[in-house]
This record gives sequence, structure tokens and C-alpha cells, in this order.
Amino acid sequence: MKKTVLVSMLALALIACSQSEQTTQPAPAPAAEKPAAEPVTQAEPAAAAETPAAEQVTQEQPAPAAEPVPAAEPTPGPAPAAEPTPEPAPVATGCSFDLKGTDAMTYIDAAGNAVPEIVVPASCADFTINLEHAGKMPKAGMGHNVVIAKADDVKAVAQNGIKAGLKGDYLQADDPKVVAASKMVGGGEKTAVIIPVAKIKAGGYDFFCSFPGHEIKMRGKLAVK
Ligand code: ZN
Repeated sequence: MKKTVLVSMLALALIACSQSEQTTQPAPAPAAEKPAAEPVTQAEPAAAAETPAAEQVTQEQPAPAAEPVPAAEPTPGPAPAAEPTPEPAPVATGCSFDLKGTDAMTYIDAAGNAVPEIVVPASCADFTINLEHAGKMPKAGMGHNVVIAKADDVKAVAQNGIKAGLKGDYLQADDPKVVAASKMVGGGEKTAVIIPVAKIKAGGYDFFCSFPGHEIKMRGKLAVK
């Protein structure tokens, strides 16, 4: 019962509102105001004549206005610098990146974080990924390499690699789908792969380990920026 009372009261209130709106809308006041508005526009020419004076003021302003701009630039500067810290993706600052392979079948960066993406500066002619096997397991059991291929080709390259076997470092010789690749290393060993940046500029390329089954976990994107 209370609800219906409230609803009816609301309905009444709404009707009252809409009625009041309707009454204000048809009011002839706007029509009467129009002539009043015209004198204002007539007065505008005077204001327009004053604008040159205002322009002179603004012409003087650029100098002081330019000062706050450089002053504001340093402020946003620290902000983007703070952003990379929470981001999990490591950003390469030069034309190389230090990558590590572990006995846990993972790639990590120098700080021990996962490496979902490596940023390759477009200004680099060649980009080098240095790989260090930070584990202790031998190549035959936990071998790691770094292979560059189109994301769509990774599975095919990995499957061709299995056919090549350990003798072939789990990579088909002269696989046309491979842009670049390092050799396969075991615990404590180091290697590197040099990537011609022009070949991956189009985007959509990944880096991965071609040891059987490793590309499931050991894989990341190459982002050319
Ligand atoms: Zn591996």
C-alpha cells in the first residue's frame, strides 16, 4: 500500500514537473527577449573594436606563456619514467637485451622477471639478444636458444626443429621461416642472436626456444618501436 502511495506521489510529482516545464516553455518571454538581445549584438561592434587592444595584450603574453610550458614539461617527464617500473615488460634501452634461460624452462631478464616482450628500438640496424643459460642442466635435457620467427610460424618452426633433433640444435637448417637464431646452449653457457631490425619492422614477430616443448613457456613478443 505504501509503495503505491509513493508511486502515485512520484507520478504526481513528475506530472507536476512536466507541467511546469510545459508552462515555462510556451512562455512568450523568449520572443520578448529577442529584441532585447539585438541591442547587445549591436553593441558588439564596439567590443570588436576593442579586440585589437586585446590582441596586443596577447602578443605580449607569448613570452611569459612560453615559460610555463617548459616548466610543465619536466613535470610529465618523471611521470612516464615512473610508469615502466610497474610494467612487467622490460624495455630495452639500447640495441641489445640480456636474456637468461633457467632450469625451470623460463626466460628471465637480468632482474629475474619474466620477459613477455622485448622492445626493439626502430633506430637500431641490428638488435642483439644475449642469452645466458643461468641453470645447471645440460643442453640435452634443458637446452635453450633464441629463435626469431613470425608468431604464426612459431609452431611450424618448432615442429621442424624436433625433426632436426639435438644434433641440429632442434632447428631445421636454413628454415626459411627462421629470421634469426642462436645456437642451443646448456647450463652455464652463453650465446647470442643478431636480428636485422629491418626484417622484423613489420611487427608480429616472436622470440622463442626451439627445444621440444619449450616454446609453450619460453616465448615472447618483439615489439619494434
Ligand atoms: Zn629451452
